[in-house]
Amino acid sequence: MKTIGHFIGGASSTASGGRTSPVYNPATGEHTANVALADQATVDAAVAAARAAFPGWAATSPLRRSRLMNKLRELLEAHADELAALISSEHGKVVSDARGEVTRGLEVVEFACGAPQLLKGEITDNIGPGIDSHALRQPLGVVAGVTPFNVPAMVPMWMFPVALVCGNTFILKPSERDPSASLLLARLVSEAGFPPGVFNVVQGDKDAVDALLHHPGVDALSFVGSTPIARHIYATGAAQGKRVQALGGAKNHMVVMPDADLDVVTDALMGAAFGSAGERCMAISVAVPVGAATAEGLRQRLVARLAALKIGPGTDAAAEMGPLVTRAHLDRVRGYIDRGVAEGAELVVDGRGFVMNRSGFENGFYIGATLFDHVQSQMAIYREEIFGPVLCIARVNDYAGAVDLINRHEFGNGTSIFTQDGGIARDFAHRIQIGMVGINVPIPVPMAFHSFGGWKSSLFGDHHVHGPEGVRFYTRLKTITSRWPGEGREGTSFAMPTIK
Ligand code: NAD
Repeated sequence: MKTIGHFIGGASSTASGGRTSPVYNPATGEHTANVALADQATVDAAVAAARAAFPGWAATSPLRRSRLMNKLRELLEAHADELAALISSEHGKVVSDARGEVTRGLEVVEFACGAPQLLKGEITDNIGPGIDSHALRQPLGVVAGVTPFNVPAMVPMWMFPVALVCGNTFILKPSERDPSASLLLARLVSEAGFPPGVFNVVQGDKDAVDALLHHPGVDALSFVGSTPIARHIYATGAAQGKRVQALGGAKNHMVVMPDADLDVVTDALMGAAFGSAGERCMAISVAVPVGAATAEGLRQRLVARLAALKIGPGTDAAAEMGPLVTRAHLDRVRGYIDRGVAEGAELVVDGRGFVMNRSGFENGFYIGATLFDHVQSQMAIYREEIFGPVLCIARVNDYAGAVDLINRHEFGNGTSIFTQDGGIARDFAHRIQIGMVGINVPIPVPMAFHSFGGWKSSLFGDHHVHGPEGVRFYTRLKTITSRWPGEGREGTSFAMPTIK
């Protein structure tokens, strides 16, 4: 059976101390490969390669870095379908969704192509007699990126294009559940002409992440994954003196005001809740209809649409929802549905009974879409992230109740409101304690030239990813004050320098 390995110093390698983890095709349930799990020596080798490449890369002009990024953009466009098929084969998402993920990642590559503009510094002439001051942003050094299973190409592309054009070298540690996309990315980075060691991939699990976190040769770490791990990464990395941004989990609400067009809302909600089988950090997992009439109208429409939802393998162009990533995750999602029933929520549509009877796909990790109504804020299905195709309806009496419900939730990644009332929409955007807000937009993922990130337990650290915040995260500021020898001599002063 194939072993999926690492990419270190411009070359493939499988050396890993022998530990491996199985990789599945979620559509069929087949065990398709094993992925190598890096040990300390493998991580050491990746850090050594990245450190060796850093001085030369940091000294490369931003324009040259940007040209290489442009070449990578061309290669990614040419291989986008191949990358999407690879993602679908290990993640399970429908190919059109995987293609969309590649496009959103490519947009960050396009953003990073603007490196010379992004890295321009600031200058103030004549801050004192014959004295000028200028500020510039310099790279951090070796940066690691640890990424989740659910967007195996896009999340790495949130990170490494910006890190590289800022002059850092990079080590990607992708999810062990769908590791292959990372190697295709590495191949294309290499083909684009980036020098060996500038971009490296180590496959692995907790051991590899801990080795990166504690390694003195790693200067900064970007993490995206679940909240408990994000918290651990932030605390441990910061204690080691590293710069860390750690994005965590989510529970995203969509408020439906009584004046919203419920057909439009239902269209939006179906994609936002059940697209990618709910395995999205920006998926809507809680619908918050305001008033009983809104709730009844929404529920009725959702039930009708759920009956018609097309579930199938990701390669089926007609499928709207694919399987979950692994059998263990399927069991976890089923467990949450059992728990919701036990907690007293009303199970309106039960996905547990879904049977895939297409030949060859009977053992895939499928589950039907699920709808709960009358969900209360103390229930686990409301408080915790399920990360599956399970939508909860949490009814509220008025707009203030919706705002209060959302602001009290532990997570603060994304939210949206559907309304025709500009005043309410504006008030919502101002008062809601969430990092990314949609007004009549169900999944408000910021474009590459803005920055992505949540609040509260959805992000630990000071910087969001990509866009201007990405450039700030991957660079540090240096301010230079200069005077050139001229006429005269000022003599010694022991006072704080001030301008007279
Ligand atoms: P995860 O936290 O299990 O894994 C993320 C990464 O951490 C993987 O590379 C994994 O190998 C590593 N890891 C796992 N356990 C570890 C440990 N104990 N110590 C160190 N490293 C460890 O997350 P996942 O299941 O792969 O992805 C789904 C989660 O990611 C969801 O919670 C989702 O909301 C979140 N997510 C968040 C965003 C965001 O932008 N906020 C985006 C995508 C996904």
